[in-house]
Amino acid sequence: MLIKSAEFIISNTDYLKCPQDGKPEYAFIGRSNVGKSSLINMLTNRKGLAMTSSTPGKTMLINHFLINGEWYLVDLPGYGYARRGKENRDRLQQIIEDYVLEREALTSLFVLVDSRHEPQKIDLEFMEWLGENGVPFGIVFTKGDKQGPVRLQQNVDAYKQKLLETWEELPPVFVTSSEKKSGREELLDYIEEINKS
Ligand code: GDP
Repeated sequence: MLIKSAEFIISNTDYLKCPQDGKPEYAFIGRSNVGKSSLINMLTNRKGLAMTSSTPGKTMLINHFLINGEWYLVDLPGYGYARRGKENRDRLQQIIEDYVLEREALTSLFVLVDSRHEPQKIDLEFMEWLGENGVPFGIVFTKGDKQGPVRLQQNVDAYKQKLLETWEELPPVFVTSSEKKSGREELLDYIEEINKS
């Protein structure tokens, strides 16, 4: 898919205040620092489109970007941030849960995981919860360039193996590097295919 335009539309903490034009939405989520902003900027070819989690005040927001005037790329808040404190964590969980469960335009969620790390409990539990609630999602491995190709493949395979302990079928899996701009076409073509169908 060619990205002809990518524009920031709105940020908020309430799914009811998200755009109401019914365009399909693809939302990106993962632990803080997983590389979500870098991935969004890489996918859209816009350097500063998504703010990094270190940007003050940006961390709790649902951000909508309109792509090619046709679909929304949604930047969800990062989860599992230890420094937030319980009250903020609970609030954040509520924002994410409301959006994921109630947002009719949500077409697919992409759960980002760092390709260097062992499967993390918080990510596995989140995917489990998505499955229980019938939310379509894919897995996006990030920072693929931070290790050699053999090691990367081993990590991805080990992750899939772990998932197959609880899942009968694997969700779509994408391996990316924002640094090397790899995995971009696969992910965008996947979105394009769904949009066409
Ligand atoms: P976010 O908190 O999930 O939005 O993560 P960021 O996009 O801000 O990335 C966190 C850190 O990881 C930053 O220092 C990025 O430069 C780095 N990073 C993100 N993606 C990649 C990647 O694909 N390759 C490499 N080498 N570093 C990355």
